[in-house]
Amino acid sequence: MKIKVLPESVINKISAGEVIERPAAVVRELVDNSLDAGATEVSIYLGNGGHALIRVVDNGSGMNRDDAILAFERHATSKLRSDQDLLSIQTLGFRGEALSSIGAVSKVRLKTREKEGALGVEVEVKAGKLNSVRDTAVPCGTDLQVEGLFFNTPARRKFLRSPATEEKKVKQWVIHSSIAHPHVHYRLYIDQREVLVLAPRETSILRGREFFRGNTVSIGGTIGNITVRGVLAHPALAQVDTDSLVIIVNARPVSDRMILKAVKEGFFSTLKERELPLGFVSIELPSSDVDVNVHPQKSEVRFRNPQEVFLAVRQAVQNAVKEFSPAMVMQTNAPRTFESGASNPQSTVKAQGSYGVGSIFSARLLNPVVNQSLAVQPVEVDSESVQESAIFRFSALRYIGQALGCYLFCECEGAVYVIDMHAAHERYNFNLIRNGFRERGIARQKLLVPERLALTESAAESLVEHLATLEQFGFEIEETGIDELVIQEVPAILVGKDVQALMKDIAALPFGATAQGCLEQAIDNISARIACHASVRTGDRLSKEEAYALFAALDKAEFSAACPHGRPIMVKFTASNIEKWFGRDR
Ligand code: ADP
Ligand code: MG
Repeated sequence: MKIKVLPESVINKISAGEVIERPAAVVRELVDNSLDAGATEVSIYLGNGGHALIRVVDNGSGMNRDDAILAFERHATSKLRSDQDLLSIQTLGFRGEALSSIGAVSKVRLKTREKEGALGVEVEVKAGKLNSVRDTAVPCGTDLQVEGLFFNTPARRKFLRSPATEEKKVKQWVIHSSIAHPHVHYRLYIDQREVLVLAPRETSILRGREFFRGNTVSIGGTIGNITVRGVLAHPALAQVDTDSLVIIVNARPVSDRMILKAVKEGFFSTLKERELPLGFVSIELPSSDVDVNVHPQKSEVRFRNPQEVFLAVRQAVQNAVKEFSPAMVMQTNAPRTFESGASNPQSTVKAQGSYGVGSIFSARLLNPVVNQSLAVQPVEVDSESVQESAIFRFSALRYIGQALGCYLFCECEGAVYVIDMHAAHERYNFNLIRNGFRERGIARQKLLVPERLALTESAAESLVEHLATLEQFGFEIEETGIDELVIQEVPAILVGKDVQALMKDIAALPFGATAQGCLEQAIDNISARIACHASVRTGDRLSKEEAYALFAALDKAEFSAACPHGRPIMVKFTASNIEKWFGRDR
């Protein structure tokens, strides 16, 4: 056996497989370079999903003749000088691998000019070979065009996904990048069609609001040297899809499970098992506290103090989520697509993207509420109505009556409100139980006649293991024999309710390990089960007094926007919505 060092051209081909495994990754590298060059205008052109053409044009610093040639060498970078610099990277790129990798597996034409340079330069590289260099008159900035990606690596070309898949991926990433860099003007053209035009915005939040509309809140807060900002949609819009939440760390869109978890916990257990909220969270911290050099495509980072980041994100989200307007506001005109761009005339977002909040709404929660033939779209919540929501009080509602066994109709200031009484009561009870558990203040009551629990062997076993926890929830359960349990005392809110059914439910919960995260989850789960069983049910008749008592209780609840399962507890129909149903607005 003989060991040989591989030639540069082979190394570059190998590295190309890691760094730019698909067209969307090429776009990412090129746009990152434009951003690092201080560009304020970035235009992206895609031909046949990037299989035919990828071109990025910017108005950044540009390169001089020597640099334009050197840029295609492996590990050629202007962003890193020593290994010390690795500890505090301020730029998106730093490894000097992108252009050499791209050049190795495609035909590249680079045109660039520095501000100082009178004339620009055009460089052509094909399959890693410098083909030509000539002076040329070009505007200041850089125009880099990639054709025939992977033309000389047929195996890889075969594995490319469909143009449509790449287009979607590129569009999504451009949106993420634009939220991370709100001051930059982005344009995306797909097969000569203008797909995105994103005019500069003052802040990420303003940029983010262009994509996440409907019932949303802004988050913002600083703990220590960690700043968290973002926009989050109401839990009822959550999706079982990790792409629905955009995570940005120091202006770099990344994926990060820990942050996902922190955001989820911040939602006060209104999200289901695999659901993630819709929106974005942007975290800023000193560059020395985050290692960006841990992933070939730089799409993951590592934090020096993950726990601190976790707590900061969870806290910021918790604070924001409390502000959700308790009402989902309904409107019954045609669904608005991004095209209307009513709130942002300089900026158009063409084609309904995956963030079309309206579609999720109609699918997930409106159809059961409103006649399907009406196209329904939530009204955007602007800052004014957020303020309005801050002073919304359930007690201010005039109660009209109960319908379909479950819905409380109310009226207040030119709008009709419909409250799901079970969901509302459940939310209230959930807070009561969970806070009571934390503060050891759950009111309990002795049963007049202790009740023997009829449980299967395994259900009984599961409860026996957790008697101490259940004790803290207000249950006194005695073991009177092997797998024989008698319940003596229950949380006061459960008096008169079906305790047998509840205990069966609780026994079936996954109790799991005692790690803090799991314990939290267990507390939430048990609280949710108790809350559900303690709440009024469909069919229960509510007296006027009981309805008003419920409203008063809801005003005291800390987060009353959604039930513990994330369903909204109330919808609002404004007078003008209703007038439209009857054509009175014409
Ligand atoms: P890295 O970004 O990690 O430095 P790249 O291979 O992506 O490595 O780019 C190599 C170098 O080429 C960069 O360090 C930068 O100096 C220069 N460069 C690339 N793209 C641009 C651009 N759009 N504008 C100005 N300079 C650029
Ligand atoms: Mg780069």
